[in-house]
Amino acid sequence: MGRVVGKIALVSGAASGIGAACARLLAAEGAKVMLVDLNDEMAASVLAKIRAAGGEAEYHHLDVTSEPCWEAAMAAMEARFGGLNIAVNCAGTSVTKLTFPTETGLDEWRRIVGINLEGTFLATKHQLALMMRTSPVVGSIINISSVLGIVGQPGIASYNASKGGVRLYSKSVALSCAQDRVNVRVNTIHPGFIRTPLLEQSIARFGDAEEGRKFYDNLQPIGHLGEPEDIANGALYLASDESRFVTGAELVIDGGFTAR
Ligand code: NAP
Repeated sequence: MGRVVGKIALVSGAASGIGAACARLLAAEGAKVMLVDLNDEMAASVLAKIRAAGGEAEYHHLDVTSEPCWEAAMAAMEARFGGLNIAVNCAGTSVTKLTFPTETGLDEWRRIVGINLEGTFLATKHQLALMMRTSPVVGSIINISSVLGIVGQPGIASYNASKGGVRLYSKSVALSCAQDRVNVRVNTIHPGFIRTPLLEQSIARFGDAEEGRKFYDNLQPIGHLGEPEDIANGALYLASDESRFVTGAELVIDGGFTAR
């Protein structure tokens, strides 16, 4: 038996990296999964792999920063699957270059905070509403923050602020649900440096790819980067009933990065 059999799940950012790994694993463990993303081509490939492996999944094009998109996606979830139990909010982005705080442009700040923090707010708001209309109400929302939502790093203040915001926003929603006895748990995952297309962009900034990879490998006390599946395994635990007493928590999966 799979660990999330009979559950209905949504994964944002499901076309790539961590989101794709979460969508694949949830489907393999028995959930019906709605993939949402901007990148239709890559999402189609993830969807095809899930279906070829016997999983049940659909894809819906969505921009996480658009409230009408979330309303339409929730209507599609309800029509196709009849509700929602699990949401893993992976869609996110990072800065295109490191900047000193006096040089950070407002447009770039708003782009990062808009996708990472406001996108998570809109996602959580509409997912929670649908979970509360689903019978029975058994929900788990998993918001992907970062180790950089816990510790700072020079040059990426907007990313730090957006991911720190995701961390505390999620705790507040978890407490609101607990206080009102709404059976929806809300937790964050804080990945360390994970081998995905997003990280490849940071590695590319080194010019010499080998040097970039070595730099990122050595950031972790454990001596290497994480893989998307390392994060998906944590998401599966938080999605399943094994974590039924876990809410408002932060699951750090970082090869020891924040232990120092
Ligand atoms: P990724 O491979 O770039 O995947 C992110 C996905 O989100 C992409 O398919 C991207 O589409 C999509 N996306 C971006 N903006 C969107 C929007 N406005 N609406 C809908 N979809 C959108 O990145 P990843 O590394 O898997 O990252 C997933 C999450 O983990 C992010 O929140 C990231 O901040 C977090 N994280 C990653 C790391 C790491 O080392 N990789 C570490 C800590 C935290 P496009 O390709 O079209 O932009």
